[in-house]
Amino acid sequence: MIIDCHGHYTTAPVQLGEYRDKQKLELAANADCSHEKGDLRISDDELRHSVEGAQLKLQQERGTDVTIFSPRASWMGHHIGNANTSKYWTEHCNELIYRLTQLYPDNFIGACQLPQIPNGSLDNSIKELERCINEFGFVGCNLNLDPSGGHWDSPPLGDKYWYPFYEKMVELDVPAMIHVSGCCNPAFHATGSYYLSADTTAFMQLMTSSVCQDFPTIKFIIPHGGGAVPFHWGRFRGLADMMKLPSLDELLMNNVFFDTCVYHQPGIDLLVDVIPTKNILFASEMIGAVRGIDPQTGYYFDDTKRYVENNQKLTPQQKQAIFSGNAIHVFSRLQDKLGGK
Ligand SMILES: [Zn+2]
Repeated sequence: MIIDCHGHYTTAPVQLGEYRDKQKLELAANADCSHEKGDLRISDDELRHSVEGAQLKLQQERGTDVTIFSPRASWMGHHIGNANTSKYWTEHCNELIYRLTQLYPDNFIGACQLPQIPNGSLDNSIKELERCINEFGFVGCNLNLDPSGGHWDSPPLGDKYWYPFYEKMVELDVPAMIHVSGCCNPAFHATGSYYLSADTTAFMQLMTSSVCQDFPTIKFIIPHGGGAVPFHWGRFRGLADMMKLPSLDELLMNNVFFDTCVYHQPGIDLLVDVIPTKNILFASEMIGAVRGIDPQTGYYFDDTKRYVENNQKLTPQQKQAIFSGNAIHVFSRLQDKLGGK
């Protein structure tokens, strides 16, 4: 079985974008406006149509079985508007994912967006996590370490600001993928530099914190192959040594996992060489940041299954762990959702 632990609903019907545009218009008239949740009129047929020629087709073509599916990350936009803006927007986005998991229970398992706002209370995020896990049967969430959208003025992940949310994650036994959203700082390209910087930053913030000691069972996935971390593993090990920290294995590697959203063979080869197999989860992030075909190979850049399969050093057992076993360990609620698979 092959579990893709990182997929986004990037192909939603236009009504979703129209809803967001309406929110932005309301904010332009009054930044503090309370909005109304309102309706999002999207039929089941429209939902089916939005994924059948896209994520579902690619699952079938590439031979992956199930995707842990979350709302479009670049649209989370936690820097836009106020707490109500984020709450209603997030609820609608998560409800669409829930409907897709009902329409295609064999193909999609939900992970939720959170209604964060920069430096705001995490109470709404805790409530939404509970709703999505307990009522919708989701198995994970995407936690944004920089809800400002590129200005980096939130407390680091080791700050007690985040602890109420971590407590809820541990109580519900769900992991978080640490995932930023769109960027409003022109110094960054969203998926080229902002995402990868954020992934690298997340690792360093966790390394210099006591989060994994304070919450021994907490689990984080750092997406996009862990940003620059695997490539610079020696730097991080050396910094840990200089800071008189325990080894990274002891400090973080029972709690921190990397996905395989790395879009070329040498990158995957390095990832699996450097990072322990138990800490690597298969993912493609399709349909996401890079959608084209690599002219050097003739295959889609984001067809990451191919790179894992073609790696020469991993044993079949290690490949199986990356493709499914590790995901079942990290997403502890996943096994129940997989039924007889
Ligand atoms: Zn993503």
